[in-house]
Amino acid sequence: MTMGSSGLRKLHQLHLKMRGVQEKLERGPRQLKARRQTLEKRTAELEAHIAQLKQMRVAADQRNLQLKTAETKLKNLQKKFDEATSGKEYDILRSQIDADTMAKSVLEDEILEMLEKVDVAKAMQGKLEAELETTRKEAEQLAKDVAAAEPPLRDEAASIEAALRDAESELPGNIVELYRRLVQSHGAEALSAVESNACTTCYGVISSQDAVNIKNGKFVFCRSCGRLLYPNDSAD
Ligand SMILES: [Zn+2]
Repeated sequence: MTMGSSGLRKLHQLHLKMRGVQEKLERGPRQLKARRQTLEKRTAELEAHIAQLKQMRVAADQRNLQLKTAETKLKNLQKKFDEATSGKEYDILRSQIDADTMAKSVLEDEILEMLEKVDVAKAMQGKLEAELETTRKEAEQLAKDVAAAEPPLRDEAASIEAALRDAESELPGNIVELYRRLVQSHGAEALSAVESNACTTCYGVISSQDAVNIKNGKFVFCRSCGRLLYPNDSAD
């Protein structure tokens, strides 16, 4: 028994169904890959942030050491000042103490500012860690979902594949080769419905002779786009 127009319609529907299932099969791993890339990016961001915070702390520690040195120096100057005997010595020490006190005050402000920045950076680290954790959990959940969705999709693909082979086995021998080539180049769009005497793929008008042949169940290929044509029920 050879295939009629309803067989071709069914064949086309099977191809479209198969394409849908394959798209779903590809979508999961693609989403998972994107999520894992986000995870890597966030991990790198956090690491960079931690390294920066460490540098900020080292710099603040260095300034603190400078401050301690300055404080010791000031104490010594103060001691000398207290023990000064001449007016000239007194004046020199006084101006040194004033200058060093000013410098120390600037240093203290600087350190305070640095410590404030360290605090902000620490808070930011907490935020980045929380975001990373969320992304990690999402990626784990997605991996589970994708893995769980795959077997039923594979089963569905296998059953469509079987139905496709069944339907294809009814194609007459003289068009099988052409049909295979069409499937190879156009996939699910190897077949095209005819509506209102036009191919629904390229909108090329079907000649009246072709229209008669299609109606009589003959295998006709679109003269514009080459698709295997079948009449659409609703247009009949
Ligand atoms: Zn066409």
